[in-house]
Amino acid sequence: MRKFVLLSCLLIVSPNTFLSAEEDYWQQFVHYTMDVTLIPVQKALIGEETVRYTNNSPDTLRKFYMHLYPNAYRGPESIMAKEASRYYRTLVEGPDDAGFLRIDSFKILPPDSIGEDESLTAFKINDTILEADLPRPLPPGHDMTVEISFFLKIRKFLRRAGYRGNQYDFAQWYPKVCVYDESGWNAEPFHYQGEFYGEFGTFDVTIHVPFEYIVGATGVVVEGNPGWELARVDTSWSYSEWRDARQQKRLSMQKGAQNGKVRTVTFHAEKVHDFAWVTCPDFLYESGEWDGIPIHVLYRSHVKDRWSKVVLKRAARALEWLSAKFGRYPYPQLTVAHGLLGGGMEYPMLVMNASERESLILHEVGHIYFFGILANNEWKEAWLDEGFTTFQTRWYMETKYGKWGQDRETSLKQANWLQRHRPSKTRRERRRDSALAFMNSDHNEPISRISYRFNEPLAYSVNAYTKGSLLLDMLKYVVGDSTFEKICRAYFDRWAFKHVNEERFKNVCEDVSGRELDWFFNQWLHDTVTVDYALADVGKHKVKGNWYTEVSILRKDRGKMPVEVELTTESGETFLKRWHGMHESGKVLFQTTSKPRRVLLDPNDAVLDKYRLNNGPLKLEVVFDYPNMSYNPRDAYLITWRPSGWYNSVDKLRIGGRLKGRYGASRNAGLGAWYGVDSKELDARFTYSNPITPLGPNIRGAAGIQKMEGRFEVDAHLAYSGGKFIAHPPKHRFWVGFNHSRLLEGKGDRYTIREFDQKTDTTLTTWEEGVVNNLYFRYNYDPRGLNWFSNLSAGLDIVLDDWTSDFDYRRAFAELRFWLPKNDEGVFLRFYTAKVFSSERAPLQDLVFLEGANPRERFKRFYLRSDGALPEELHYHLPGGGNVRGYYNQPIFGDQIVALNLELRNTFRPQLFGKRLDKFLGETSLVAFVDLASMEFIGSQNDFFAGAGLGLRFQNVLPDNWYTLFTGGRHVTLRLDFPIWIDDPLPNENAVRFRWVFGFEQAI
Ligand SMILES: [Zn+2]
Repeated sequence: MRKFVLLSCLLIVSPNTFLSAEEDYWQQFVHYTMDVTLIPVQKALIGEETVRYTNNSPDTLRKFYMHLYPNAYRGPESIMAKEASRYYRTLVEGPDDAGFLRIDSFKILPPDSIGEDESLTAFKINDTILEADLPRPLPPGHDMTVEISFFLKIRKFLRRAGYRGNQYDFAQWYPKVCVYDESGWNAEPFHYQGEFYGEFGTFDVTIHVPFEYIVGATGVVVEGNPGWELARVDTSWSYSEWRDARQQKRLSMQKGAQNGKVRTVTFHAEKVHDFAWVTCPDFLYESGEWDGIPIHVLYRSHVKDRWSKVVLKRAARALEWLSAKFGRYPYPQLTVAHGLLGGGMEYPMLVMNASERESLILHEVGHIYFFGILANNEWKEAWLDEGFTTFQTRWYMETKYGKWGQDRETSLKQANWLQRHRPSKTRRERRRDSALAFMNSDHNEPISRISYRFNEPLAYSVNAYTKGSLLLDMLKYVVGDSTFEKICRAYFDRWAFKHVNEERFKNVCEDVSGRELDWFFNQWLHDTVTVDYALADVGKHKVKGNWYTEVSILRKDRGKMPVEVELTTESGETFLKRWHGMHESGKVLFQTTSKPRRVLLDPNDAVLDKYRLNNGPLKLEVVFDYPNMSYNPRDAYLITWRPSGWYNSVDKLRIGGRLKGRYGASRNAGLGAWYGVDSKELDARFTYSNPITPLGPNIRGAAGIQKMEGRFEVDAHLAYSGGKFIAHPPKHRFWVGFNHSRLLEGKGDRYTIREFDQKTDTTLTTWEEGVVNNLYFRYNYDPRGLNWFSNLSAGLDIVLDDWTSDFDYRRAFAELRFWLPKNDEGVFLRFYTAKVFSSERAPLQDLVFLEGANPRERFKRFYLRSDGALPEELHYHLPGGGNVRGYYNQPIFGDQIVALNLELRNTFRPQLFGKRLDKFLGETSLVAFVDLASMEFIGSQNDFFAGAGLGLRFQNVLPDNWYTLFTGGRHVTLRLDFPIWIDDPLPNENAVRFRWVFGFEQAI
């Protein structure tokens, strides 16, 4: 299929077709005249709209289409809501949150209309598209008029528009004409993934709001007063002076509004394809200009300290930058408004931003160029607006702040210890790493694809934003910096205020650069290639005082890019040459006077090479293993180190540490060693894992060996992990492996934990001697619904004594966990069953324990591994087995179990331990639980056990700070359970009694 697409592109698109396509270019013209009134008490807007529509196409039109975007938020039946539910997202929570656009009257007056009787009032609505037959066909060059009255029920703010408090953001809010272009009508419903496409024209919009509301919009004010002067921040006054004066004004405005006084303002905009506006009584206003172009800034008063002056300055810089790189900002104003949304969103002449961040301002104002002036079809070719915008933002940030692409000095001043010391990535590295991770997965998709056809939102954003922006970096690399800048200006000159697409952009690139670029655009936009060049051989020889270096290069993957070769000589000089990179191998020759020292391919990391360890001599980089470190050097194998230590009764203090190595997500190695101060024992562990490339990107192989606290273990396994999505469940995980374990003779016994059974007056050793050779299978699956989560795991162990095992048993288990969390309440369920099949008894460490996890599972936690590591008095409960927590002091085990655990949870915000400790403990939940289990041991009678009680949960996400070094991560859970009743207590205990257990994880 892919080949067919490529081929047909090549066939259809020859340079001649480009030229004629550009000469034949046409676009429709629309003139909207609207009169709209906001009624805040009803959360509604009523409007009258007249559209004068001019058919500039060579076709006679018989139909007419309009977008009714707000209807996507009408309820769960809309196309958008259904698509959102694929990713487990409920779009509209309830009817109070919903919004819609109702057409109260609709009339098409045909061209040269003379009377009412010829008009058409019939229309159909399908999801967000209004469709009408024209009363008479509209021939080329003619125009007609559409008259509409509409009622907009404004939704509670969702995605890009709606109300919150007394602010209203109006985006995609009115009946909007669908684009008719060379592909026909673009009557595409509003999808969950994908944006917009609009017809260029003129807007005259008259807005009526209560008098106290301040208004910002696309266009310039031609009549009335938007209220800016009433809200203007005089930045020369002190804050308190200004605030008092502002209070006076607010009061008089409120009084005016109460008396029914209305603010009416008319905006006029030309050469735009959309119209958006914002209004709020709490807006403050500042204004400035760049090179004669007025800039308006509107923000809510609580962000005054952050927005004042800064946003104006940054908006002016954005205009200056964009004007210099592409073409002078062509509109008569720019408004930056403090929107209700989380990030930012662009409209012609108006951007809505959540914050004053410089890169956000550059991004959104940049969109006025890429989507606004150079108006691509955003749901068809999103990379043309998001890719360009992301690219130019990074270009600006790197030009201003160097390689970090951000104001690193200022951010370091505000950073904490961890953030200052931990190596981090530049803006460019973050983008590149996320693109490469996606491209190396089995979910890679081509950049140019209809937005709603991308498999998931992550695929849409990586392609449109990340890969789309890197494509432009690579284009710049291919054609050279100065040619690229010429392309940017030519693209603007040729296509401003028109609809652009891939062919039109490519044509500009080819015309300006004089190069054929089909190979480049096809490969990156319509294929899913990855790139890997490798340094094969470096031959050096000296002839008559000159050094000749012959560099052989291999292309190891399908992706083709010109590749730079850098030669560094002994004298420190560097030389750069380019190989075209199209063939499977090639040579580059250098002539130098000084002896060559080092050769490196793609020294500027410009071609998205997925594996750079073969680009030059191997480098190692050693850094401390900081928490939450996402550092990934591209040219070196990373080694991290961290000391660690703990205590047990045999070693007393154990001290040591571990080294970890990786290159991206591959070649993961781990080496740890610990020394027991008292026992003089040296323990060590080595592990290695790597994707098994021939089997596909989802399969990893892993092997490990350890001598650890009296036990010896060797493990090797294959692991598969895959699913329909990258960022969403369900995922299937499967492991198959072999495990050898044994207690070390003469040494191991000392470490094992002994439990005293009061009922039988015996002491149990929880790890038995003998070799266990286990062939194991594990499976895990995590389906979920809109409101529920689940996890299923199952496993099989096959231990046969003829494999030199000292035991002979098979063990099977299945566990199903189900959660129904709902706001503050939730239900949590766990079902567990296990059975050990054997002629003789399996070792104790592999049996099923009534209270929780068995000794083999507990061995994986360093603090539960050996005697004395964690004081027994703490009653640490590790979930597993029967999970009947009230039996923590009774070592009951068996070879067959069916268990059920149920928890009802209520989350609340109590004041328990004072402000500081409460904040540290985080979200607090009260839990009521019941645990039931039926157990059997080697053919004995079925025994039934039960327990019930109450528990407390504290869950917190800690700030990214130094103490995560000790907590093992940012997510911290503390659990205290009080199993006050059990059905079969110890002889000296009552059934109902104060008991407690404690843990670092949820019980279910
Ligand atoms: Zn964007």
